[in-house]
Amino acid sequence: PYPIHGHIAGPIVMIGFGSIGRGTLPLIERHFTYDAHDIHVVAPDDTHANLLAQRGVKFHKLALTPQNYREVLDGFFKGKPQGFCVNLSVDVGSLDVMKHCRRLGALYIDTVVEPWAGHYFDESLTPAQRTNYALRETVRTEKQANPGGTTAISCCGANPGMVSWFVKEALLDIARDTGHATQMPQDRAGWARLMRDLGVKGVHIAERDTQAPAYPKPMGVFVNTWSVEGFVAEGFQPAELGWGTHEKWMPENAYPHDTGCQAAIYIDYPGALTRVHTWCPTPGPQYGFLVTHNEAISIADYYTVGEGANPEYRPTCHYAYHPSNMAVLSLHECFGSGKVQEKHKILDENEIVEGIDELGVLLYGHARNAYWYGSRLSMAETRELAPFQNATGLQVTSAVLAGMVWALENPQAGIVETDEMDHVRCLEVQRHYLGPVEGHYTDWTPISQRWDRFREDIDESDPWQFRNILAS
Ligand code: NAD
Repeated sequence: PYPIHGHIAGPIVMIGFGSIGRGTLPLIERHFTYDAHDIHVVAPDDTHANLLAQRGVKFHKLALTPQNYREVLDGFFKGKPQGFCVNLSVDVGSLDVMKHCRRLGALYIDTVVEPWAGHYFDESLTPAQRTNYALRETVRTEKQANPGGTTAISCCGANPGMVSWFVKEALLDIARDTGHATQMPQDRAGWARLMRDLGVKGVHIAERDTQAPAYPKPMGVFVNTWSVEGFVAEGFQPAELGWGTHEKWMPENAYPHDTGCQAAIYIDYPGALTRVHTWCPTPGPQYGFLVTHNEAISIADYYTVGEGANPEYRPTCHYAYHPSNMAVLSLHECFGSGKVQEKHKILDENEIVEGIDELGVLLYGHARNAYWYGSRLSMAETRELAPFQNATGLQVTSAVLAGMVWALENPQAGIVETDEMDHVRCLEVQRHYLGPVEGHYTDWTPISQRWDRFREDIDESDPWQFRNILAS
C-alpha cells in the first residue's frame, strides 16, 4: 500500500500531458485523496486521450494562451474548494498562470519558469532578455510585490527542484565528514554561512544520462529522454551561471546584470554549445553542457552572504549536463545543419533497454576537494517503481509529488522556490522513487586529467577556477 500524503479538496488541473505529465498522474492517483470526478488535463494534443478516458480523467483539448488562460482557469476553480494546478506544459506563461491561480485561491506548482509561446526564439529580444535570469526576476518581482498568500511553487522538478534539496544534504554530509560542528541551519542566511564556512567554491548540477534504446539514432530526428521542445529552447538560450566570489577570470563574452539579484552572469553563446569539465560517479571525469537553468541562479542567490554584484560570499553554480548519447548526437546534427529537426522523439519506458539517469550536485573547493551527492536511478528500477515514465521522468515527477505534499502542508506560504522549502520533508516523500541516493567524494579537479599534448589557457594555481572548468 502506498502512503496517502494528503487530501486535495477541490479540482486538480494538469496543464500539459507530455512525458512529465504522464508520469505525474499515477503518483497523484497513488498518494492523494481527491474527488475523482474533478481531475482534468488541458493540452492541445490528444495523443493520450484514450489513456485519460480509461482513468476517468477529463481531457480538454485546448492550448492555453495569453488570451484564454483566465477564463479557462476560472471555469475550473471558481467557487470550488481549494484545488491544485499542476503546470507541466511548454509554451504556457508560468507567471501569468501562477498569479491567476493565487487570485483564485488554488495551489500551484510548475517545473520551469516558462514564457508564452514564441519568446525563446523571438529575434527582437536581446540575449539578456532571453535569459533565465530575466524570467526568474519576473517571478521574484511578483513575490516581492505580493508576499504571502496562497502557495505557488516555482520550479519544482528534478532540476530545477530536487537538486536544491540535495545541496543541503550534501552540505550537512561535508560538515559531518570534515569535523565541522553544526546544527541544521534554520534560515537562508544560516545555510549560506554554512556553505561559506565549509569553503565551498561552487556547485555543478552534474548529470549523466546513459539511457538508450536498442536502435541507433535515426537521422533527422531529435531524440531525448524528456521534452525535446524544452531542451532545444533552453539549449539555444545563452549559457548562464551563478557567479562566485572566488572567480578571478571571466570569459570575454560574459555579461553581468545591472538589476535584480545580480547573482548570475550570462555568456553570449548557446548553452548547448558551451562545454564544461565535470564529474559524475559512473563516468568519472566527463564533458557536460553548460545549459542555462533556473537553479544555477537560484542556488547562487540563496547561498549569497551579502548582496548585489559584490557580496562577501557567493558560490559559482551551473548545470553540467551530459544528456543521453542520442541527445548529444541530436544536438550535433541540429547545430551542424543549422536547423532543428522536424521529427522529435522522447524515448519512453517501452523502448529504453539500458541505462540510468545519474543526477546530482557536485560541491567543490572544500577541505575534501569535491563531493557528488545525487540519485542514480536506472530504467530497470524505474519500471518497478512507477508506470508511464523513464528514469529522467521519475526524478522529475517524484519532485512534483514532494512539492505538492509540501504545498498542501503549507498552503499559505506565498510564492516559493525549492531552496526555500523544507528539504528534509520533501526528500522524505521523494526518496522512495529515486533509486540509490549516494554521496561520493572525488580527488578529481578540472585540471587533474587534461589532454596535455596541447597548450591550454588554464590557471594551475587554482584548480576550481571557472577558467579551468570551461572547456576550450
Ligand atoms: P513534453 O514536450 O513531453 O510535453 C509538453 C506538453 O505541453 C504537451 O502535452 C503539450 O501538448 C503541452 N502544451 C504545449 N502547448 C501548450 C499550451 N499552449 N497549453 C497547454 N499545454 C500545452 O514536455 P515534458 O517533458 O512533459 O516537460 C514538461 C515541462 O516540464 C517542460 O516545460 C519542461 O521544460 C519541464 N521539465 C522540467 C524538468 C525539471 O527537472 N525541472 C524536467 C523535465 C521537464
